[in-house]
Amino acid sequence: ASQDEVIKQKESLSNELRCLRVELQQVRDDRDRQVTQMQALTAEIVKYKEFTGKSCAELDNLTIKSNALEETCSSQREHIRTLQHQLTAANEKLKMADLSASETRTEFEEQKRTVCELQERLADAEFQLIEGEKLRKKLHNTILELKGNIRVFCRVRPLLPEDGVGTEATVIAYPTSTETLGRGIDLVQSGQRYPFTFDKVFSHEASQQDVFVEISQLVQSALDGYKVCIFAYGQTGSGKTYTMMGRPETSVQKGLIPRSLEQIFQTSQSLQAQGWKYKMQASMLEIYNETIRDLLSTNRSSGLDMSRTENGAPGKQYTIKHDVNGNTHVSDLTIVDVCSINEISSLLQQAAHSRSVGRTQMNEQSSRSHFVFTLRISGVNESTEQQVQGVLNLIDLAGSERLSKSGSTGDRLKETQAINKSLSSLADVIFALAKKEDHVPFRNSKLTYLLQPCLGGDSKTLMFVNISPDPSSVGESLCSLRFAARVNSCEIGIPRRQTTVKPMDNRLSYG
Ligand code: ADP
Ligand code: MG
Repeated sequence: ASQDEVIKQKESLSNELRCLRVELQQVRDDRDRQVTQMQALTAEIVKYKEFTGKSCAELDNLTIKSNALEETCSSQREHIRTLQHQLTAANEKLKMADLSASETRTEFEEQKRTVCELQERLADAEFQLIEGEKLRKKLHNTILELKGNIRVFCRVRPLLPEDGVGTEATVIAYPTSTETLGRGIDLVQSGQRYPFTFDKVFSHEASQQDVFVEISQLVQSALDGYKVCIFAYGQTGSGKTYTMMGRPETSVQKGLIPRSLEQIFQTSQSLQAQGWKYKMQASMLEIYNETIRDLLSTNRSSGLDMSRTENGAPGKQYTIKHDVNGNTHVSDLTIVDVCSINEISSLLQQAAHSRSVGRTQMNEQSSRSHFVFTLRISGVNESTEQQVQGVLNLIDLAGSERLSKSGSTGDRLKETQAINKSLSSLADVIFALAKKEDHVPFRNSKLTYLLQPCLGGDSKTLMFVNISPDPSSVGESLCSLRFAARVNSCEIGIPRRQTTVKPMDNRLSYG
């Protein structure tokens, strides 16, 4: 039994052993598999390790990069934040700016409106001022006409370089009180002040245009049929020729003669619309030593210097005659019909040429002679049958300076006497007219005789007294101003227009 037992036991053990062997085999197989697996895994691990190494390096790189990027990012963020701040600020500002812009715009619009309004008002005011000024001038002229005074304008020329040094002492002052503003002038001689007032005083700053504006009304009246005389009186070099003629070729410096002619042309053209037709005739002459010289004569040859000293060009008498209508005729004198402005400028050039030729040949003679420009204007109105006859005389007188008698002999003495005679004859005529004397000595000089119908009674007379500001001229200036003041106080009569209306029967006779 026990053997059986043991056998049984041995069998079971053998069984168990077999089982175990199988198991062992299995385990061995298992282990082998595991080993292979492990080997594979190890290889894989190695591979992975390699990878990991690479990855680590990469990672390090990436970390660095990422750090750098993070840094940039944070700085950018910072930047963005500041930019955002700025943006909000800018937006704020923009909003404000928009606001203020619109405000400004409305303000601008308002201001524009105000400016427009003001401009309109200014234009209105200016218009009124101009109208008022026109009216004032007209009334002033009417007053003067009613008083019958000879008007006197004083003009002081600027100091010239040739007046020399030592001219720092001013001898001329213009009072600023309202009642004499623009009309007063004070002359200072050796500490003594001599005040004068005239109808108008032009300082050295007055332009040719300023002066012309003041006489344009008078020029206008020649078109309305008045006889007008404008004289320039003063010592040589005081600006008479500049005032009368100026430099006709320049627009700024041209004087009263070219400006008057231009105005007369323009006005006569605008009066055409009212039916007026005008005819103008010009003449220009010089009176030297009581001899008339025709400045527009075309056939004056080299014998012209003779014509100045002796009794005119051969065969030319230049006799002065007045007809019953008060029109003056000078025999042999060239009279030019002027129909356009262009003709005038060539006329003035011709006259200037004649005078300048005289000047080179006969030293200084232009200042020793009277220059007379005459424009006869006759107008007919076809619709009203009215006729007007006006005359405009513009006269550049010989220098008024007193020459020392002792130094003058021969021709010079004769010249001096002639000037003194004609200027004092002019004064005599004016004063005789003022005193309403029966005898007015028109015939005492060629100049007064020539101008007889245009002086006194029914004419308009204006005298420019030209003054030099040069202290060395103060004596002459005082004489000129005193003479002018005497002239200014003269009442010579009330101007009359020369107009006629054609008689009815005359018209009927036309059929
Ligand atoms: P007059 O004819 O009285 O002898 P001018 O007219 O010849 O004198 O003038 C003398 C000088 O003075 C000229 O050179 C002229 O150009 C200058 N002159 C005169 N008046 C003026 C003025 N108002 N403005 C500028 N220059 C003037
Ligand atoms: Mg002159």
